[in-house]
Amino acid sequence: MGRYTGPVCRMCRRESASGAKPGEKVKLFLKGERCLSKKCAVERRTAAPGQKANTKNRPKVSEFGRQLREKQKMRRIYGVLEKQFENYFDKASARKGQTGAALLALLEARLDNVIYRLNLATSRAQARQLVRHRHFVLNGRRVNVPSMQVRPGDELKIVESSAKTTLFQSLTEYAKGRRVPGWLEYDEQSLTAKVVQMPTRADIDTNVEEQLIVEYYSR
Ligand code: SF4
Repeated sequence: MGRYTGPVCRMCRRESASGAKPGEKVKLFLKGERCLSKKCAVERRTAAPGQKANTKNRPKVSEFGRQLREKQKMRRIYGVLEKQFENYFDKASARKGQTGAALLALLEARLDNVIYRLNLATSRAQARQLVRHRHFVLNGRRVNVPSMQVRPGDELKIVESSAKTTLFQSLTEYAKGRRVPGWLEYDEQSLTAKVVQMPTRADIDTNVEEQLIVEYYSR
């Protein structure tokens, strides 16, 4: 199955309408700066997408439904396909400690997510495209695989010629003064970033209940 290329705001509306917490506005932040503006679809209406969105007496969401929605939410936030997500879960299960936290750490340590966290892209989708177009150097080597896992001590740089382009000039301007999570370091002068340590659950502000996902796969 290929990557979903349809309208992404309907994913946020789906999660808002039938997510784990009734009435909560669930934002997956898939559209960059638009997500923070009044134009955000979830800010305007939280009804589920589709013709029967407003049908009254919709059945109550079951426990399985909540687990499924939470899994879909996390998968969509990080832009990962079903099979890839299952592989991440298998890896997380094999690790010591809490599986849910390990799953989140694996997804956070993806190269495309790191670039998004450094504010060098306004969305994970944009970060993925920038990596695909070989605009970054990881530990001295040009990379083009968005799913690469970073490790403590890794050094990430923008390719010198890319940094001079209008696109990167506006992105580096966008990154100035924005918060970078504690497990990463970013030097605005040299346009270099470093992975200080692997992220812990406390470092990750992704709004998911990972325990529900563990329960989903433990059925
Ligand atoms: Fe979701 Fe962003 Fe669309 Fe809002 S603008 S509905 S947060 S993808």
